[in-house]
Amino acid sequence: MKLSLDDLAIFGGRPAFAEPLHVGRPNIGDRARLLERINDLLDRRWLTNEGPYVREFELRIAALAGVPHCIATCNGTMALEIGIRAAGLSQEVIVPSFTFVATAHALQWQGITPVFCDVDPATHTLDPGRVEELITPRTTGIIGVHLWGRPCNIGALGEIARHRGLKLLFDAAHAFGGSHRGRMIGGFGDAEMFSFHATKFLNSFEGGAIVTADADIAARARMMRNFGFVDYDDVRYVGTNGKMAEVAAAMGLTSLESLAEFVEVNRRNYHLFRIGLKGIPGVSLLPYDESERCNYQYVVLEIDEQAAGISRDLTQQVLHRENVLARRYFYPGCHRMEPYRSYFPSARFMLPQTERLVQRVLSLPTGTAIGPEEIRTMCDLVRFARDHAPAIATRLARPEPAAETPA
Ligand SMILES: *Cc1c(COP(=O)(O)O)cnc(C)c1O
Repeated sequence: MKLSLDDLAIFGGRPAFAEPLHVGRPNIGDRARLLERINDLLDRRWLTNEGPYVREFELRIAALAGVPHCIATCNGTMALEIGIRAAGLSQEVIVPSFTFVATAHALQWQGITPVFCDVDPATHTLDPGRVEELITPRTTGIIGVHLWGRPCNIGALGEIARHRGLKLLFDAAHAFGGSHRGRMIGGFGDAEMFSFHATKFLNSFEGGAIVTADADIAARARMMRNFGFVDYDDVRYVGTNGKMAEVAAAMGLTSLESLAEFVEVNRRNYHLFRIGLKGIPGVSLLPYDESERCNYQYVVLEIDEQAAGISRDLTQQVLHRENVLARRYFYPGCHRMEPYRSYFPSARFMLPQTERLVQRVLSLPTGTAIGPEEIRTMCDLVRFARDHAPAIATRLARPEPAAETPA
């Protein structure tokens, strides 16, 4: 507990945590089960190419997402690239800029132009009204991102896609295990793509999947994942190598067995943050719709500098020195990263909400590596920094008295 400014690590005090607390520290399930599976796959000498673990993993994911088809991939970016290609997108596709850069790269990588659309300030997901305005004769699709695991305005986006004859895909990298109006994420639009990266809610070390109810998209995605092969020596499509390895599927299956526990820990953590951060002026915790299923994987603060008297960046600086490695996801927005910054130098004028949000949001460490004690300390730090913001800013602006240098 910090009692005075001198106690803050930023002013030379001892950090609140001896070891760094990370955002996205992996959730790890039953180690013995994982090692058992790894032994099995080594005994079988079947390491990749649609082995039994990958097949089992695909069936489990499809069942959980409530869709007939799941194509597991080596990572989430490859799932996006293949999903985009299998759905036949080309020319221009409307995406948010307020997302991890892979959403945009998956398009640009195959010569498709990401057209950045602003988000709704309350939901942080695509604003359907803005999407309409960006449709041109070259537009072929929309990719919504279920940011922080909170579903997009799926109904409104679906209406637009239907009326304008566009494909609708979802980057569901954050949203595995969530639901929308009682239906599981994975079954919406023409296809959805998951990431099972180590930092995601469910991990397979690296991994991803395309899930869809569309048999044609599924068949194309399956071929594209494996160089376009349909049979021995028979290639029908341009393809890539997007296969998931057996060892990744072994991890994925093991993670699935602990799914309920991961959700429960995340949910407990989220509620402890809610209590601990209550009533801090200008600091709000992003809510989840708890009438739906959610994975609570992200604890996201919005810091309103006007109301809080402290900026997001100064809060982050104070926390980092205390060994709380809070992250500014998804600063500064895709449109301010290359190559998009050079391609679309005036994009920022079209993205006022994105520009505002990237200055305000801060993700805090949660997950199975974080417990109640740590959460209490993190909340106390945020409160202390907010309460003493003017003094902290003043003292940081002042040059530190020069240390005595030995002659
Ligand atoms: C993590 C992530 C991806 C990419 O997934 P990888 O498995 O890391 O390739 C794509 N989109 C979003 C929103 C992500 O957070």
